[in-house]
Amino acid sequence: MRKIYHVINGERVPSRSGKTFFSENPATEEIIAEVAYGEAEDVDYAVESASKAFCEWSRLAPAVRGKLLYKVSEKLLERAEEFARAETEDSGKTYQSNLRIDVPFAAEFWRYYAGAADKIRTPVVANEFGIHRYAVREPYGVVGAIAPWNFPLVMASLKMCAPLSCGNTVVIKMAEQTPLTVTMLAELLLEVGFPPGVVNVVHGDGKTGQCLVNHPKVKKIAFTGSSAVGKLIGAQCAQLGKPALLEMGGKSANIVFADADLDLAADGVLQSGLGNNGQFCLAASRILVEESISDEFISKLLERVRRIKLGDPFCPSTNCGPLISQKQLDRVMNYIEIGKNEGAEIIFGGKRAEHLERGYFLEPTVFWKMKSGMRIWREEIFGPVIGITTFRDEEEAIELANDCDYGLGAYFWSKDVNRVHRVSYFLDSGLVFVNMPAYMVPQMPAGIRKLSGSGYNFGLEAIENYTKLKGIYINYSEQIFPWLS
Ligand code: NAD
Repeated sequence: MRKIYHVINGERVPSRSGKTFFSENPATEEIIAEVAYGEAEDVDYAVESASKAFCEWSRLAPAVRGKLLYKVSEKLLERAEEFARAETEDSGKTYQSNLRIDVPFAAEFWRYYAGAADKIRTPVVANEFGIHRYAVREPYGVVGAIAPWNFPLVMASLKMCAPLSCGNTVVIKMAEQTPLTVTMLAELLLEVGFPPGVVNVVHGDGKTGQCLVNHPKVKKIAFTGSSAVGKLIGAQCAQLGKPALLEMGGKSANIVFADADLDLAADGVLQSGLGNNGQFCLAASRILVEESISDEFISKLLERVRRIKLGDPFCPSTNCGPLISQKQLDRVMNYIEIGKNEGAEIIFGGKRAEHLERGYFLEPTVFWKMKSGMRIWREEIFGPVIGITTFRDEEEAIELANDCDYGLGAYFWSKDVNRVHRVSYFLDSGLVFVNMPAYMVPQMPAGIRKLSGSGYNFGLEAIENYTKLKGIYINYSEQIFPWLS
């Protein structure tokens, strides 16, 4: 069986305690790796290594850092098949989507933030004889990154490339379900010439994450995960006076107006709601359809849901793999029961996939008559479950879409150009996708709203998450302002 170690100070190291845990393939339920389990001592070793490496890394010329990041992008693309295979084994995501989408997407982020390294600008406020005023952006030091399992390689890359480009060092704790590709990535960084200690990986669970949050030499926390855990970490960081970037859950709405191209909308609603088994933060699980076209749209949507092929994620014709774990399967099935008890009607799926004996496969599930007070409307399910309701007019559609504690993403479909701008304006969400499913690029910044977190995603704006602004005043007049004289 494969053994996975922490990557600390440029080396593979077991846990000081010798403790391990197991990682399984969610499609076969086979144990695929024995993984080092990190505790306080391991986190401390990783943070000390990152802290020592910070001095050299932060003082390198930004362009030199950028060149190293660029090499990661190239190497990832060269080794795309190897990364895609490991990701599929570890997470159950389909091999084809890992190869065609996830690995190139991760590589694209390394490429983008390689270029960003020497493009950070800050204002100079001069124009007055005697005092020179300017601002600088300084890296925090050691960034403690905590990431989820739903796009392991992409998440690990996002948690590394932006902070590294502006001079921070990183200790990352990936979700315990998916330790493989983050480890391969850290090793790839060493191969291309990153100095030891600049990126360190410690494996483990929430307790390991807590050691990272509480470590005094971790100067910034970058968390991506559920809102429940994010709120807890946010409160702890506030107590510790430690800044935290919180990227948390979502419950996006997808509005289909009667004037939309209904076939395109049905394709997009399917992809945004049930792609990656609904296990993505921007999953649009609340489908709002204009009353006058609801029958026609639902029949188009169900036609497409029927064509989803669950099964072996390595098989080229499979377009949906298993959920990540038994725990996640139980959680999603529990939400299906909650939805039924609340009075929503299942019009497709709702059961474990009976034709697959092993693996955490769940039928894509569609609820009809979902209403705004219901828990399946308000809470993030994070599984292949969408619910449909209808609206009468634009005002009601916007009100329903915004009737949500989360503010990560929103989608809508319309051919009316004025409506497109108007509705985009009124949706209370950090990202809005019009006539398309989620398709993001690193160049495009977005904010995070409401219970979905705080900070910026992507773009040069993401650099703001990982740098502190300092204003410097220099008096060269050899006189001082006469306050006390
Ligand atoms: P999770 O919150 O259970 O775990 C996320 C990470 O936090 C894991 O590494 C976990 O080990 C760690 N963790 C758990 N408890 C902790 C604690 N008390 N202290 C420190 N660390 C702790 O989330 P998950 O189930 O792994 O991932 C799914 C969630 O991630 C969903 O809510 C999804 O919306 C969210 N997500 C958000 C984004 C975004 O950009 N906003 C992107 C992807 C996923």
